[in-house]
Amino acid sequence: MSAKIIDGKAIAASIRQKMVDEVAQLKKEGIVPGLAVVIVGKDPASKVYVGQKEKGCAQVGIYSEKYDLPEDTSEEELLNLMARLNKDDKINGILVQLPLPKQIDEKKVLYAIDSAKDVDGFHPENIGKLVIGEDTFLPCTPHGIMVLLEHSGIDLKGKEAVVVGRSNIVGKPISLMLLSKSATVTICHSKTKDLSFHTRRADVVIAAVGRPEMIKGDMLKEGAVVIDVGVNRLENGKLAGDVEFESASKKAFAITPVPGGVGPMTITMLLKNTIKAARMQA
Ligand code: NAP
Repeated sequence: MSAKIIDGKAIAASIRQKMVDEVAQLKKEGIVPGLAVVIVGKDPASKVYVGQKEKGCAQVGIYSEKYDLPEDTSEEELLNLMARLNKDDKINGILVQLPLPKQIDEKKVLYAIDSAKDVDGFHPENIGKLVIGEDTFLPCTPHGIMVLLEHSGIDLKGKEAVVVGRSNIVGKPISLMLLSKSATVTICHSKTKDLSFHTRRADVVIAAVGRPEMIKGDMLKEGAVVIDVGVNRLENGKLAGDVEFESASKKAFAITPVPGGVGPMTITMLLKNTIKAARMQA
C-alpha cells in the first residue's frame, strides 16, 4: 500500500486564498488586521520564520510591523515594547519569535502580551481556555494539524491517537485538541518504556519529537494516519521529519511530508488568529 500524501502546502494555499477575500471584506468595514512580529538576535532559523510570517501577512493583506532587536536587548526593553504594542490600536496580534537570548525570561515576555493579542496562543489564560473547551486562540502548529486532518476527511471519533512528544507548543495542546474531537489519546515522551507498543496500536500518530526519522514503518499499524511535525536539519543540509517517510508511507493510509506538510499550516493559522483578533477587537 502507498499512502495518500496530505499536501499541507496546497491546503494552506487554498485557505490563504479565502483569507484574501475575508481581509478585503474586513477592510471595507474599516477593520485592518495588524500583526507585530518581534525578533531578538540573529538566529538564522528565526530570521527565516519571521520572513515567512511577514510574507504571509503581505500575501493576504494583513498589516505587519517587524521589530528586529539586537542580541543584547534587555528584558526590561522587551517588556516595555510589549506594553506599547498592547496599547497600539493598529496592532491586533503580537508574536515574539522564540527562542529569546538567555538574559530574557521567555515566560515573563509571553505572559506580558495582552491575552486578547496572543495570536500564538501561548498565554496561560488562552491555554486554560483550551483545556476547558472555551473559544480561544489555538496554538498555531497543533491547530494547523487539526485543520489538515479535517481537510483530509479523517474522523477522529473513537480513534486511538498517539502523540509522541509533550511540549507546551505541540505535544500537549494537540493532545487536548484530539481529545476534544473524541479521540482516545495517549501521550508518549522520552521516558515512555515501549514506544512501539503504543505507536503500533494507533489509528493516528502525531510525531513531535525533534529526532530525525525516529518513527519507522515497522512501528506503525497498517492503515494509520501519520502526521510528522518534526523539522530536523541533517548534516547534508536536507530537512528530515521525525518519521522515516519511505518505510512509513508503505504502511500508512495517509501521511504528511517534510517539508510541505505541517510547516505551511503553522503560519496560515497565525494569519487566521490575527484576523480573529482583529474581529474580536473591532
Ligand atoms: P521539544 O520541546 O524539544 O519536545 C520534544 C518532545 O519529544 C519532548 O516531550 C521529549 O520528551 C520527546 N522526546 C524526546 N526524545 C524522545 C524519544 N526518544 N522518545 C519519545 N519521546 C521523545 O520539541 P517541540 O518544540 O515540540 O518540537 C518537536 C519537533 O517539531 C521539532 O523537530 C521542531 O522543530 C518541530 N516543530 C515544527 C513546527 C512546524 O511548524 N512545522 C512547529 C513547532 C515544532 P521529554 O518531555 O520527556 O523530554
